[in-house]
Amino acid sequence: MLSNTDIAELLARQAERESGILSRAFRRAARSAFLWPEEVANVIAQNRSLTELRAIGPFIERQIRHWIDKPPHSTHRAPTIRRDFVSLAKARQLLARKPAWAKILRGDLQMHTRWSDGSGTIAEMADAATDRSYEYIAITDHSKGLKIAGGIDEQALKKQGNEIGKLNAFLRKSGRNLLVLRSVEMNLNRRGEGDMSPESLLALDLVLGSFHSSLRIVEDQTNRYLAALRNPHIQILGHPRGRIYNFRIGLSADWPRVFAEATSLNKAMEVDCYPDRQDLNIDLLKIAREHGTHISLGTDAHHPWQLEFIELGLAAALKAKLPADRIVNFMPIGELKSWVREVRGRAPRRP
Ligand SMILES: [Zn+2]
Repeated sequence: MLSNTDIAELLARQAERESGILSRAFRRAARSAFLWPEEVANVIAQNRSLTELRAIGPFIERQIRHWIDKPPHSTHRAPTIRRDFVSLAKARQLLARKPAWAKILRGDLQMHTRWSDGSGTIAEMADAATDRSYEYIAITDHSKGLKIAGGIDEQALKKQGNEIGKLNAFLRKSGRNLLVLRSVEMNLNRRGEGDMSPESLLALDLVLGSFHSSLRIVEDQTNRYLAALRNPHIQILGHPRGRIYNFRIGLSADWPRVFAEATSLNKAMEVDCYPDRQDLNIDLLKIAREHGTHISLGTDAHHPWQLEFIELGLAAALKAKLPADRIVNFMPIGELKSWVREVRGRAPRRP
């Protein structure tokens, strides 16, 4: 029986054979296959229409039904640019086998709002987090260096901090058990340097640092990762490889060395749970496990509904057999805050 991941690969290959609108439709459907909440085979078995799934119209539905009836022989492995992605349907099956795992999760540590390139307000993200019974979320809008994503400067970050402070006061008053953390996804250059003043970063609860440029370099980038991890202002390295499904393979490095360095600095590497990122992937998480590295799960949500992507990260961590005590968003808020304090305390003192 074809899984959604198999269907994604068939759709992606079909896109390569078609051109124009049709090619784009197949490409979009391939990418969306990772988001379908249940296996196509189940939907068909229940006599439901596939058009209820994202990015499937009647034309693509006919093609998929044809593949299901007569599975193509050539189910070669996906090329690297599409390999090692888990579908949401599969992730849900994995998590259903160990329901206790997802229950340890206390929050989501990467999301964007209207302050940069997200579509929701901070309050809307907080509502979505409350629906998921989270204890905390980190608001991580882009920093000023990433103009294309509406990155914010120190002044805007401060204003955002005030908005978060007011929202937290409101949440407390209304008896909701959610704390919104002030954070940022700071843009890092190739030398691992950020683009925000140390003072503005110290006012935050947590700082993520991520690379958003020079992501197609094929040479080993170990030194770049080591430099980023040694940046005293960040605690989490976001979407480390910079890979994107069917678009970009991402960077390579001597990963054991990178994870060893992260561990020695007590910093976390992220699983960006966005379906076409899934970065770190399972293989790298296994290396992280061997080195005892802290891992942070972040959906990179740009809309409130996208908080559901967290299941992809939870499933990857489960599959890689990461111990629960290595996952920073499994920590109660007090412990999370002391971890940040501890990491900051290691940074060399500024004169
Ligand atoms: Zn990013």
